[in-house]
Amino acid sequence: MNKFEQLGLNESLLLAIKDLGFENPSEVQEKAIPLLLEKDTDIVALAQTGTGKTAAFGFPLIQKIDAENRNTQALILSPTRELCLQITNEIKQYSKYVKGIHTVAVYGGASITEQAKDVKRGAQIIVATPGRMQDMINRGMVNIKNINFCVLDEADEMLNMGFYDDITAILSDTPEDKSTWLFSATMPQEVARIAREFMRKPLEITVGHKNSGSQNVSHEFYLVNARDRYAALKRLADANPDIFSVIFCRTKRDTQAVAEKLIEDGYNAAALHGDLSQAQRDSVMKSFRGRQIQMLVATDVAARGIDVDDITHVINYQLPDEIETYTHRSGRTGRAGKSGTSLVIITKSELRKISQIERIIKTKFEEKPIPSGIEICE
Ligand code: ADP
Ligand code: MG
Repeated sequence: MNKFEQLGLNESLLLAIKDLGFENPSEVQEKAIPLLLEKDTDIVALAQTGTGKTAAFGFPLIQKIDAENRNTQALILSPTRELCLQITNEIKQYSKYVKGIHTVAVYGGASITEQAKDVKRGAQIIVATPGRMQDMINRGMVNIKNINFCVLDEADEMLNMGFYDDITAILSDTPEDKSTWLFSATMPQEVARIAREFMRKPLEITVGHKNSGSQNVSHEFYLVNARDRYAALKRLADANPDIFSVIFCRTKRDTQAVAEKLIEDGYNAAALHGDLSQAQRDSVMKSFRGRQIQMLVATDVAARGIDVDDITHVINYQLPDEIETYTHRSGRTGRAGKSGTSLVIITKSELRKISQIERIIKTKFEEKPIPSGIEICE
């Protein structure tokens, strides 16, 4: 008996898990799955990014859905369109041996009538962004008055993005006796408030330290003059020919500019930010997942929660304004037990931010010299 069997999952899920190649449950899965299977309870589960939260709620959810009943039974709220699609895709893989489970993704930027039609055809599980969900409710296109489960995934991210009002409006439209499962990497005030106001005595599961990053990620910084930022980036890329990385910039403009320069200089790079059309964003993500792009230059909003395996380096081309955002950026690497590096290219005047981050992630940075070539450090 492997550890997944001990958690109480049924045969169809165990088969799907085998296909996925998951050998053992992650810590959050080990803690959450038996609890959610056995009890009708609300839970708050705090675990860093990359710890397998999707399966922690996805497996028990699928087991608890009545596949013969085609009414909407579960709503999963998630911060972005990309994450909605990612979760929907995962849920479909998990439920591939369960006959009759239908999952529909509902998000902005695509036809709302088409999505409403898909829901009406009998989707037991809806995976939605809060904005589009609220829109559908307002237009009477969806009925969530009888759902049994509501999952708030990446709750801290959703609230960071300003979805508080949408989330509370949606929750008010669901029955009081449903179960609410909240998953989050961190527990800021607004998340605590949602738990307090909309959940019934939630059980709390915490994996690792709250707010701290993955143990598999090493954190490094490179001190440069402001004018040498771009040269440093190129040097880092040259020193790591197999690099597969996300490079974070602070603004859409810088994101576009850095990507353009990299492309001009012959690197496999692309930009990902909110000024691109949905089709462009989809195409960039597809090429990145397919490894045709090695360096994805992105804004924080565009890269939120993106789960691409085997990212070797997260590069902070510029540090985020909100220091907490660093945790989310570095969480793009070191996923599913793999190791990764989170680098910061930094100037002298920003140096104190490093110690602020060290306090949050409870890990020390290593100062590294820019690899070989002309001296560009101070
Ligand atoms: P989170 O939501 O906590 O950020 P995800 O659910 O996106 O994490 O999972 C991160 C990665 O780990 C995914 O690629 C997923 O397929 C993989 N994964 C999840 N659970 C396991 C497991 N038990 N064994 C191996 N890989 C897993
Ligand atoms: Mg997740």
